Amino acid sequence: MARAHSTAGSNSGFSGYDLDLDKAIDLIQKSGAQRVGLQAPEGLKRATPALARQIEEKTGAEVIISGDPCFGACDVDMQLCREVDLMLHLGHAQIGIGPDNVIFLEARMKEDLSDVVDKAAILLKAKRVGVTTTIQHVHKLDQALEALKEHGIEGLLGPAEERIRYPGQVLGCSYSTVRALDVEEYLFIGTGQFHPLGIALATGKRVVIADPVAGEVSEIDTDPMLRRRFGAITRAGEAKRFAILVSKKPGQRRMELAERLKALGEARGREMFLVYLDNIEPDRLLNLGAEAVVSTACPRVALDDAAKYRIPILTPPEFEVLVGEREWTEYRFDEIS
Ligand code: SF4
Repeated sequence: MARAHSTAGSNSGFSGYDLDLDKAIDLIQKSGAQRVGLQAPEGLKRATPALARQIEEKTGAEVIISGDPCFGACDVDMQLCREVDLMLHLGHAQIGIGPDNVIFLEARMKEDLSDVVDKAAILLKAKRVGVTTTIQHVHKLDQALEALKEHGIEGLLGPAEERIRYPGQVLGCSYSTVRALDVEEYLFIGTGQFHPLGIALATGKRVVIADPVAGEVSEIDTDPMLRRRFGAITRAGEAKRFAILVSKKPGQRRMELAERLKALGEARGREMFLVYLDNIEPDRLLNLGAEAVVSTACPRVALDDAAKYRIPILTPPEFEVLVGEREWTEYRFDEIS
């Protein structure tokens, strides 16, 4: 995410992002909150002191900033929520989880999508394509559909559901919007490879990427990632002691799944133990003596951060492959429902 700066106006701009602070101030005033929590992902955190000052000046409420890392709407600072009357969670769309006193204030990127979609249309082969993006660009999907129409391509948006707030939106842990569509090809608008990999693996279809920040288009190739994950499963297959990580974060906590995996491993003669933790980092695992790890937390922990760990770290579906509950040919991304 972009480095943030604050503006003097009540509608705050972050480099490349719009944030509707007027709305937040209005809601704080209407609620009569005396103490307000402010939580933001790392890319927006630099702006929080200035935002806190603006909120204090305009509402008279005291603001406390959450200093812990924040990875998504799944990651509301529950302890701070208990300390404050109202919590402002910046940058993410609500996913239907968490306490009632949280206001989600989405951060929207300013980039127009027309030019990059125009470029991507040349790579698309089908005349009906699923169009999908992340929360930062979802408000401009109309531009994308319009640009595709100019090329004679019909763009379709999958429906929202409880964890997904907007039609066409995907999360790193949920691809329900793309699976709901009957199309031969997808256009992902956004940055990075993680979401397009998830879309390709969730649907088995071709995915074209249009990156509105870099202005570049490409096609996702799942092979390098699948090779790495096959290697991780093979290495984990040699382990006897497995730690199963369960996240404390409200939108990532999957205790039942962890217990099911523990039973599966034990039935195959492995030593399995559950570990409950908040932020998952390599150092936290050092003294546990595990030879391999299964993370039931955010799928990005195992898939994006694997290189940081000295021991193999698997997702739940990968562990199912390891113990023979799932065929490798049925490999899929981990998703949280
Ligand atoms: S679990 Fe991971 S991918 Fe899903 S919302 Fe949270 S941080 Fe994002």
